[in-house]
Amino acid sequence: MQRNCPQHGPNCKTYVPPSGKPESTLAIIGEAPGEVEIERGEPFVGQAGELLWDELGKLGVTRDDCWVYNAVPCLDLKKTKTPDSAKIKKWRPHLLDSLKSTFASVVLLLGRVAIAAVLGRAVSEVRIKDENASIVQLDLGGNHKVLCVLSIHPSAILRSGGSPELLNMLRTSL
Ligand SMILES: [Zn+2]
Repeated sequence: MQRNCPQHGPNCKTYVPPSGKPESTLAIIGEAPGEVEIERGEPFVGQAGELLWDELGKLGVTRDDCWVYNAVPCLDLKKTKTPDSAKIKKWRPHLLDSLKSTFASVVLLLGRVAIAAVLGRAVSEVRIKDENASIVQLDLGGNHKVLCVLSIHPSAILRSGGSPELLNMLRTSL
């Protein structure tokens, strides 16, 4: 598989490119690829992805209806599982450029890292409990404005053992 990492070039083993159609009006941004995603070279194909597509499917939205990417699309899991603020900052220009190249009008931001990355905030300042399902307009430049929907990350629900309260938060944002 061709994995031309925007930061590390064609031999990078841990870059996961965006998937889906750039013509979609819905973009979904996650945190960073996990093991399954890196292995398959596609975002949201692991357990958290399953939960996400399940919930979106109930609303009639399939993978083919969206464009999907990660805030930090390249991560060496042997070194770290969560991207730090330096990585988030470094990837931000690429992330915003990538979003700008799509036809997205709504961007679903899954989790604190995605919210911080796209909106240019500090991860520590994002309060999911208070901000879940809120909507923020973002100007990508060149007359391309998007509505960002802030949401809990499906992996937080998995980590909680399927907490109904957290699942409800996800359903509210969708
Ligand atoms: Zn890379």
